[in-house]
Amino acid sequence: MSDSPNLVRRTPFPSSVSRAVATPLQPSVVYSSPDPDALDDQYEGRAKGYTYGREGHPNADVLAQMIDRMEGGEGGIITGSGMSAVTATILGLLGQGDHIVGGNQLYGRSLRMMAQDLPKWGITSTLADPTDINAMAAAITPATRMILIEVVSNPTLRIADMEGIEALARDRGLILVVDNTFTTPYGFPAYARGADVVIHSVTKLLAGHSDVTLGYVLARDAGQRKAIYDTVVTLGLTPSPWDCWMAERGLYTFDMRFERAQANAAALADMIAEHPAVEMVLYPGRRDHPDHNRAATLLGDRPGNMLSFRLRGGRNAANALTRAAPEVAFAPTLGDVGTTLSHPASSSHRGLTPGGRAALGITEGFFRVSVGCEPIELLHRDFSKALDAVSALG
Ligand SMILES: *Cc1c(COP(=O)(O)O)cnc(C)c1O
Repeated sequence: MSDSPNLVRRTPFPSSVSRAVATPLQPSVVYSSPDPDALDDQYEGRAKGYTYGREGHPNADVLAQMIDRMEGGEGGIITGSGMSAVTATILGLLGQGDHIVGGNQLYGRSLRMMAQDLPKWGITSTLADPTDINAMAAAITPATRMILIEVVSNPTLRIADMEGIEALARDRGLILVVDNTFTTPYGFPAYARGADVVIHSVTKLLAGHSDVTLGYVLARDAGQRKAIYDTVVTLGLTPSPWDCWMAERGLYTFDMRFERAQANAAALADMIAEHPAVEMVLYPGRRDHPDHNRAATLLGDRPGNMLSFRLRGGRNAANALTRAAPEVAFAPTLGDVGTTLSHPASSSHRGLTPGGRAALGITEGFFRVSVGCEPIELLHRDFSKALDAVSALG
């Protein structure tokens, strides 16, 4: 009987004097080292080497370095989702008895984590309006260790008093964590502006194509960075190499997508505001936005791609709008290359009572638009058709 062919031993990867232009995708979970001394060197940081995929891999590191450059920091960590970045930050940096002051219009799952999950680990929180520095200061207790905010609130697009909050955090010795997903480092370089920790849901505008979920955390302090990293590794919040590779591919066109989507958003906001079916438009770049001056100071000429509007009318009007524009994806997300439309009353804010929603200005006719990169004529056409359908209801 002849020997079995060797199918198990790996065939060496072909060498090449020329280099691949695209980043190689490295799916290996395990890495072999020459001997235990070499492994010591790796673990003690004397030599760079990968060990096990949950502890890090090259595709995550390439992606982290790209976002580091956008934020102006170094040592960012990629996680499997935006929520795992929030989780690792809070559980990595806080413990039993600690208290968080959070913005009252944070991403829905972050709010839920603070209300329902963190108390199980003995971490409590108070929510306050981040546009009101006195309210933020009043929420601080002797147990407070962290402030967690987003620059632009969801879905009403109010602008936090970042300068005031940054000074407050510094004055009281609190860790300032900014979830910079909405604004992106392009709209607001949160790290360069003084945040201690910056979080991104890479899933959204950074990756930009609605085909990966990933997160990112950047911490200024080395001890905090290590604590967050260890939490990611221990809780298994690790990203997949494939997702990192996809997100890297998306990031190469981020600045072009951002500029295009933002120009579209500004034009679409003006168009929507003129339509008789519309009661009100919220876009930080418009003069009639309640925080327009603060938006101009913080975001400069980059008010972003997000706008919201309120129809005259209730659920009937909302149904008519989405049905009349099936080309615009009605989907509860943001940051896709194409325009998406979300309806907070039936999605992100459905857990609130109608009264609770009304207090935020979220009626049945309220929509949030993540404006994408289509030709603007197409968006004008689709939204005119959709808004005309609402007017036709009479
Ligand atoms: C989407 C989002 C998250 C959560 O990110 P996932 O990648 O969906 O886990 C966190 N914060 C903000 C502001 C978001 O928009």
